[in-house]
Amino acid sequence: MELKSGDIHAYGESVAGRHPNYSAETVDTAQYIMEKYLIKHLLEEETNPYIFMDSFKWIRGHNMAKAAIEMALWDLHAKKQNKPLYQVIGGVRNYAEVGVSIGIQKDIDTLINKIGGYLDQGYGRIKIKVKPGWDVNVLDRVRTEYPDIKLTVDANAAFNLEKHMNILKEMDKYQLLYIEQPLKYDDLVGHSILQSNLETDICLDESLKDSHKAWEAISIMAGRVFNIKPGRVGGIIESRKIHDIGMKHGVPVWIGGMLETGIGRSFLVTLATLPNVKYPSDISASSRYYEKDIITEPFELQNGSRLYAREDAGIGVEPDWPYLKKIAIKEKTFS
Ligand code: MG
Repeated sequence: MELKSGDIHAYGESVAGRHPNYSAETVDTAQYIMEKYLIKHLLEEETNPYIFMDSFKWIRGHNMAKAAIEMALWDLHAKKQNKPLYQVIGGVRNYAEVGVSIGIQKDIDTLINKIGGYLDQGYGRIKIKVKPGWDVNVLDRVRTEYPDIKLTVDANAAFNLEKHMNILKEMDKYQLLYIEQPLKYDDLVGHSILQSNLETDICLDESLKDSHKAWEAISIMAGRVFNIKPGRVGGIIESRKIHDIGMKHGVPVWIGGMLETGIGRSFLVTLATLPNVKYPSDISASSRYYEKDIITEPFELQNGSRLYAREDAGIGVEPDWPYLKKIAIKEKTFS
């Protein structure tokens, strides 16, 4: 979305998917909530990210809809100060250390080749998706081929505590940075029981829908690493809260990507400059997901496995308007 205020143009992006499988939100629900409630507020009063989020505390959930606007307001806020957003939010470096995430493949050879390809491109950490049946058999082979790479796995909630405890315990021997979201999306208690049985750290993704959940997770030791996705938690303010709770309790975090274009990606890179981001973030170069990104200067890997925040004001990226107009399927203006 584009937000115009005087001469300033600011941008945001919703990460809601087409179907309610990763979260309950979809493109349609996000659009509905924005149009029915959120946009009106922007038109009626002078606002900022804090006032905006405070005004909509009463709306339960719909974090991806709120985040799209909240982040555009942050871009606006930083542009008004003529500063890059990463400096405004307290970043301590001007880049994100990043890794790549690889989905389930048709066979293990294909996966091994893909990993090789991404290592050649410079990615410094490899994450592979796992599920029952595509688990330690795969890790065995990957570790044989690549004994020293920084490796993690992400189960996207595919395992069951009672059925798969042994498989998950076996993963301890593969020197993984962490095992991401092994159990059901809302099962903090299950993750707590599992964590007490594992040497490897558990990283929470889907379970962390806001900073209160982060506090609960720490209270019952349900994980020792957090994946923060700004869309999932409702924007930058909430992301920073989770980051700070983690920092206070010795829980390192990293920033997770969805399928953002260069607009959303720039906010991810921005957040990854915060001090307690201690693991490589899941923010790939634009080319990992798009033949052509919708910004004029796509994100590319530099200096090993890094994406750099822009030094221009705000998020510092500009939409490629002619291309965006060409591929857009819908456009709406509110004023
Ligand atoms: Mg994940």
